[in-house]
Amino acid sequence: MEKQQVIQAAERLFPICAGNQVAEEVAISAELAGLTIFEAPLVGIGSAQDPLFQTFLDPAVIGPWFKQPQEWLEGAQTVVSFFFPFTEEIRRANRKQTTDPSAQWLHGRIEGEAYLHSFITALGAWFEEQGIRTCAPMTDSRFLPVHNGNRFHEYGCVTEKTFGSNWSERHIAYLCGLGTFGLSKGLITEKGMAGRFTSIILDEKILPDERPYTEVYEYCIHCGACIRRCPAGAITEQEKDHTVCRPWLLQMAQRYAPRYGCGLCQTGVPCESRNPSKKK
Ligand code: SF4
Ligand code: SF4
Repeated sequence: MEKQQVIQAAERLFPICAGNQVAEEVAISAELAGLTIFEAPLVGIGSAQDPLFQTFLDPAVIGPWFKQPQEWLEGAQTVVSFFFPFTEEIRRANRKQTTDPSAQWLHGRIEGEAYLHSFITALGAWFEEQGIRTCAPMTDSRFLPVHNGNRFHEYGCVTEKTFGSNWSERHIAYLCGLGTFGLSKGLITEKGMAGRFTSIILDEKILPDERPYTEVYEYCIHCGACIRRCPAGAITEQEKDHTVCRPWLLQMAQRYAPRYGCGLCQTGVPCESRNPSKKK
């Protein structure tokens, strides 16, 4: 299969999958009914045999709990990564916030996640129609989401700062050529960082994209804006401390249940919607 066919399928499914507009019955307020969550996605292709996958097993990168593509899908050949940027309306609303997330951002985070499930499920069905077997880890029962490491003690290398899942969408996007990490540990793409990622594994060969970077932080200009934006003080020049970010998110989860989110480090910063290492 050619990458172009995947792009065409994604373009066709993007507007027709349910949930990219906030439904009236779940809208936080009447004026948010119909809010559009995502713009059309960027698409990156990676080889399931890419040696970079082995480096993800290093606890300094993700950890030995990271599942290789072949563990998710026997005969895995290709990984396709998608970045869905948040719309300007969602980003603008969060840009104004100084402590709590905007209602628009909360919708993007929660209803946006539900939309990604519907998109990647529909795309998986399309691949299956083409005779291609698939696995989308985000919808798979074996997926262990981002966590502080308590689940992974059997591996013997967790610390109180260990934080990760057994399939990291940001690392997959990096491998597939979509972008590099920033100081805030988000992934900076050509359409910035404010958005969400998803991916799907295929047993079909597609020519992988060449990564247009060699360094993990190549697109980050180290401006420090995310450090100043973080209401919890979780980001420093040296690291993002998940043991500080996580309790803040839990506080937001209690305040805005059943939704949660923050994303202040992704909005009102130079990498919000573009790659700041490139001239405008
Ligand atoms: S705000 Fe600046 S320092 Fe932080 S991730 Fe973006 S470019 Fe890097
Ligand atoms: S690092 Fe965490 S707490 Fe700080 S702005 Fe980002 S999401 Fe919010």
